[in-house]
Amino acid sequence: MAFELPPLPYDKKALEPYISAQTLEFHHGKHHQSYVTNLNNMVKDTPLAAHGLDDIITTTFKDPDKVGVFNNAAQVWNHTFFWHCMKSGGGGAPSGDVASAIDSAFGSLDKFKDEFKTACTSQFGSGWGWLVADGGKLSVMKTPNAENPMAHGKTALLTCDVWEHAYYLDYQNRRPDFVQAFIDHLINWDFVAKNMAKSA
Ligand code: MN
Repeated sequence: MAFELPPLPYDKKALEPYISAQTLEFHHGKHHQSYVTNLNNMVKDTPLAAHGLDDIITTTFKDPDKVGVFNNAAQVWNHTFFWHCMKSGGGGAPSGDVASAIDSAFGSLDKFKDEFKTACTSQFGSGWGWLVADGGKLSVMKTPNAENPMAHGKTALLTCDVWEHAYYLDYQNRRPDFVQAFIDHLINWDFVAKNMAKSA
C-alpha cells in the first residue's frame, strides 16, 4: 500500500504569527508531499513496498545503495512527527512526568531550553534538533539532513525542523528567532508527554 501525506493536525493558520499559513502551505503541501511521492516511487515494485515506515528507516540507514530511500522515508516520518510537536497556544512549561524528567536530566527547564536551542542553531546546514529518550534518560541531540533518533536506536520525544524551508519565508536567515518562537509559543508538551509514556 502506498504511503500517503497525513493531513496537518490543525488549520494552516493555527500557528500564526509564529509560522505563517504560507509556510505551512509550502512545507506540508509541497515539501512533505514530495518526500511521500519520492518514497512511493522508490519502493514501488521492490520488497520494501511491503514494509512500514519505521522498518524502512531502520533497515536502510547507512546502506549505501538505499540513501535515497532512507532520506525520503525519514523525512516523511520526521515531518509527520514535527507537525504534532506544535500547537496553537503551545510553549510554556511541561507538567507531571515530563517536568520531572527534564529537571532530572538537565537541571531545570531553562537549561533544557538553552541546550535545545543550541542544538537547533548549531546544526550546520539542514537538519533537526531533538529531545530524545535513551535508555530511560532524556537528552538533546541534533541530526543532519534526514537522520533521526530512530535510526540511532533512540526514541524521539520532540523535534524542531531547522531546514531553511521551515522558517525562511517568515524569518529569512534568522534561525535563532524561529527556534526561540518554537520554544516559547509552539511546543505541544502534551505530545511530548504521550511520547515519553510510550517510551517507558
Ligand atoms: Mn521540513
